[in-house]
Amino acid sequence: MKLALQIDDEDGPSSFRPGDPLRGILEIRGCSFKSLFRIKARFFAELTVKVYPDVNTYCTNEYNHILFEQSEDLKILQSTSVNDDVGNCVFLCPIEFTFPLTLNCACENSCQLPSSVSANDGKLQIKSTYWLSATVERRIVGKLTRTNRVRQELPFSCNPVVNNFAASCIVALSVDKLSQNFESASRELVGFGRADYPPIYSPSLQMEVILPEPPVLTRGRGTPVRLVLHTPQELMQGAHIYVRSVEIQMQAAISALLRYTWKSMADTRLGNNIKGAVPINSEHFELDLGAWGIFVVIQSRPSSNSCLLKVGYAIEVIVGISNGVEGSIQYLKASLDVLVMDPPPIYRAEAHNIA
Ligand SMILES: [Zn+2]
Repeated sequence: MKLALQIDDEDGPSSFRPGDPLRGILEIRGCSFKSLFRIKARFFAELTVKVYPDVNTYCTNEYNHILFEQSEDLKILQSTSVNDDVGNCVFLCPIEFTFPLTLNCACENSCQLPSSVSANDGKLQIKSTYWLSATVERRIVGKLTRTNRVRQELPFSCNPVVNNFAASCIVALSVDKLSQNFESASRELVGFGRADYPPIYSPSLQMEVILPEPPVLTRGRGTPVRLVLHTPQELMQGAHIYVRSVEIQMQAAISALLRYTWKSMADTRLGNNIKGAVPINSEHFELDLGAWGIFVVIQSRPSSNSCLLKVGYAIEVIVGISNGVEGSIQYLKASLDVLVMDPPPIYRAEAHNIA
């Protein structure tokens, strides 16, 4: 006997979303109608968290959470039981489910379902998978039955709720680090020779990172990242400050609940990296990054925040600054939490009409 699942994806091969209908056909070949005893479909999602053994632990620690589960008995469409080439009947059973809107969890929040995720760093594996499976039980001899199974993975995507993440941040670099002369000059200026007490006047060069508001990165689309350097006047007059490098990357953190403890993995995603020597020629200087200032997220899954799985992202900007092109490079590092989303589905809006 041969089983096959055909998923109705007339709207294209994009991912399913919460509330989407799931329609399909189970095709059964190579058996007689009389032998078919019970036909069932199961639609479910599972989160697998697996910790691989290391030198201290000898066995793999693994846990499966069922995120939701629906099942139904299937009926054969009599009108479609047609003969195939070799004279066997082909039985077709229609399947119909609906993707749930929330996670079937025990917490007080109605958590969102996580998108399909598959992450593995060699020590930890986190997978959330959506499945449609079907089983066919048929009589062999007397009461003896045999069960055949087929299953298919369903790509699923759920965008996060937009929250109030800050769209900009400022980090500072003390100018002492760029100019030794400046350090002693500023002390003389304010009249203190001792570094410890009272606090001396310590101006700083500041870097402002600005993202669109709210800081949402849509997969496949570029997000402009703006960098503005605020240089104190004293430093502008006494030194030649250069931007030597700009690195924009994304930090991803995925954590999942394994029984009672959260297991996490971090990942740094490819970003934009430029090197050179750009003179800072005004007190408030916006770096013209051109195409390099557009950050594109390609493979990352949407951000997620539930009581079983969290997927979070931050944009990290590291800028190298020097006094003169020969001077040692000092680094300013800023990090902003962002949300990653999938682009809206391409299919008709009325097909996804959730209140
Ligand atoms: Zn929950």
